[in-house]
Amino acid sequence: MKSRDLEKPIAAEGGEPAFDTAVPIIRPNLPEWRSVEDRLKEIYDSRMLTNSKTVQELEKKFASFLGVKRTVALSSCTAGLILLMKSLGIRGEVIVPSFTFSATGHSIFWAGATPVFVDCDSGTWNISPDAVRKAVSDRTEAILAVHIFGNPGPVRQLEELAGELNLPLLFDSAHGFGGSVGSRRIGGFGKAEMFSLSPTKLLTGGEGGLLATDDLELADMISALRNYGHSSGYDCFAPGINARMPEFNAAMLLEGLHLVDGEIIKREKLSGIYRKLLSELPGITFQRIEKDNQHTYKDFTILINPGEFGMDRDQLHHLLEKENIQTKKYFYPPLHLQSAYEGREFRCGDLSFTEKLSENVLTLPLYSALGAEGVRKIAETIIRVHHAVSAESSARDRRMLEVN
Ligand SMILES: *Cc1c(COP(=O)(O)O)cnc(C)c1O
Repeated sequence: MKSRDLEKPIAAEGGEPAFDTAVPIIRPNLPEWRSVEDRLKEIYDSRMLTNSKTVQELEKKFASFLGVKRTVALSSCTAGLILLMKSLGIRGEVIVPSFTFSATGHSIFWAGATPVFVDCDSGTWNISPDAVRKAVSDRTEAILAVHIFGNPGPVRQLEELAGELNLPLLFDSAHGFGGSVGSRRIGGFGKAEMFSLSPTKLLTGGEGGLLATDDLELADMISALRNYGHSSGYDCFAPGINARMPEFNAAMLLEGLHLVDGEIIKREKLSGIYRKLLSELPGITFQRIEKDNQHTYKDFTILINPGEFGMDRDQLHHLLEKENIQTKKYFYPPLHLQSAYEGREFRCGDLSFTEKLSENVLTLPLYSALGAEGVRKIAETIIRVHHAVSAESSARDRRMLEVN
């Protein structure tokens, strides 16, 4: 960055905003309209809008993409997580990270179970296997892990632990579609993985969820429960709900599937630009990605050490807003501090890292449509804002010295 540019006044001090119009945090990468149009027209003309062949095609193609025996298409990840825990008869304690999106925790309460919130690893920001082990009690009935921001979780350690304790290992894989551990795609770990296909995710059908599992009985159960609990005719074998994925959404997803790997490669390059430019600043760290793991780059989140960086997360969020850059405090507050859970029954492990992380993270825009130029400009704006604030604070320090 040229030093002349570095000295340009920031928007909060009367300068021109870095971007003329707001840069959103997320922009869904959708397949070409033409490719979707033919499928939509066919569904429309057939008058078969649900429970039909587009969803069936999706379930086959997605299972083969993920390398699992079965997938079940659902209306959302939240609905799928609830049905998953209900199907497994989980009513006791579920060990889950506190640093995750609220729906992970909500689904546990809706299933009628009790969350036990545990800390995450300080490098990967994923659930810590040590913390899981410490949280196990005689009421533990499942472990629910999350691939945070698309960074694959510690699947091998968790599988080992779950095997040793004879507990089902489940994944909220809302961020994980397209990621992998070695040569195995996310989707094939634990008893089942549950993806979200809502608009903030890398692959979206408008709304939607997808269960991936090798357990055929479980897949059949969830298939039936998403459809009121019908097996044959109207004599329901269990009180199910309507959690079906509509045919139209499946059409978008079938075309969108071809874009996933390419989008991940593009985002990986863009996040490399962020990492390179922002690591020149003091007090900024990034999520550690374990060797041989493929991150999906659903989100790019930085962790700020306010003492070293010279300003806190909220201040940076505010100053970037003035520059027309949208950022998000993902995930703040952590689940154990959500107002929704006040007065509810749950247990917590030591959550000291989670609390620190949650108070200091900021998610920056990341999607292929930004291009390298867009990402570079956002990173340079952060550098410029940092420069302005640190120049101001050193001037203030000088004035303080003079006064004293
Ligand atoms: C988005 C998200 C969900 C919820 O997905 P829906 O499909 O909207 O129900 C659940 N968990 C995590 C971690 C998410 O990011």
